[in-house]
Amino acid sequence: MTGTIIKALSGFYYVDVGAEQEPITCRGRGKLRHQKITPLVGDHVAITVTEDGTGMVDEVLPRSNQFQRPMVANMDQLVILASGAIPVTDPFLIDRMVSLAEYKGCQPIICFNKCDLEPATQLVELYQKAGFQSFAISAQTGEGLEQLLGVLDGKISAFTGNSGVGKSSVLNALCPQFGLKVGQVSEKLGRGRHTTRHVELFRVGGGLVADTPGFSAFDVEQMELIPKEELANTFREFQPYLEQCRFVGCAHVKERGCAVREAVDNGAIAPSRYQSYVRLYDQVKSRPQWEK
Ligand code: GDP
Ligand code: ZN
Repeated sequence: MTGTIIKALSGFYYVDVGAEQEPITCRGRGKLRHQKITPLVGDHVAITVTEDGTGMVDEVLPRSNQFQRPMVANMDQLVILASGAIPVTDPFLIDRMVSLAEYKGCQPIICFNKCDLEPATQLVELYQKAGFQSFAISAQTGEGLEQLLGVLDGKISAFTGNSGVGKSSVLNALCPQFGLKVGQVSEKLGRGRHTTRHVELFRVGGGLVADTPGFSAFDVEQMELIPKEELANTFREFQPYLEQCRFVGCAHVKERGCAVREAVDNGAIAPSRYQSYVRLYDQVKSRPQWEK
C-alpha cells in the first residue's frame, strides 16, 4: 500500500494512509540506506504493513520537488500569507516566495490575512490579474477560510509569511486540533536542537499542511539558487512577452525593444512585480557561478 510520510523521528516514519485511518508507524528498509535514500516528510512511499500494525517503508516514490529548509518533499502548494494591516507585508517578500515556489514546481497561493482590518483589495486584484489564486481572509472573523479550506483539499501545502502575519491564528482557525497538536509538539520538542529541524504534516480538512515550529520564512535562502536565465520564467505573467523581445537572451532589465518592459509601460504587468523581478535579477546575477 502507499501513503505519505507525515513525520520522521528517530528512525521512525509515520505514514498517513488516509483521513479515516491512524498513521502507520514504519521503519525504513535497509536497502534504502544502502541506496543512500533518506525518506523525507512529504514523501509518497510504498509500505508493507506487518501483523502487529507497524510497517516497513519499501520504496520512496519519485518526488515532485524538495526543499532544504525545512526538509520536505512534494509540496503541491505554498500558501503565502500576507497582510495589508500591521505588520504590512513587503510585496517584494511575496514575490520572492512566489518565484521560489514557481521554480520548485509548487503552486503559489497568495492570501491576505487580517481583511477585517484592511481588505487589501488592490493587492488581491494585482495577484489575480497576474494569474494567481489570491483572496482575502481573516482569522478573526473567519472570512475567506472556507475558500482556503477548499484550496487545501486533496493537496500537500506549506504556509509561509512574515512573522505576525497570522500564520498560527489562521491554522488554528482552520483546524482547532492543529493548535492542540502544535502545542503538544512544542511541549515535547520545545527545548533542544530538534526544534528547528522538526517538520510535520497535519491533516487540515481534506489536505495535509506542513508545520514548522516558529513558521520561519520558507527556504528564502534558496532563492539565490535560481539561475538568472530562469528567473523570468518564474514570473508567470511575463510568459506571453518573453519571446517577443528584440534581442535573444534579453534580461528584461535595460534592453531596448524589451517586450516585458513594454508590457509594464502599457499596464499589462504590474510595476511592483516588475520591480521585484529587477531586484531579484540583481541578486542572482551578482552571485558567483561557483556558489551555485
Ligand atoms: P504568526 O507570527 O504569523 O504566527 O502570527 P500570529 O498568528 O501569532 O498573529 C499575530 C497577531 O495578529 C496576533 O495578535 C493575532 O491575534 C493577530 N491576528 C491574526 N490574524 C488576524 C486577523 O485576521 N485579524 C486581526 N484583526 N488580527 C489577527
Ligand atoms: Zn526583454
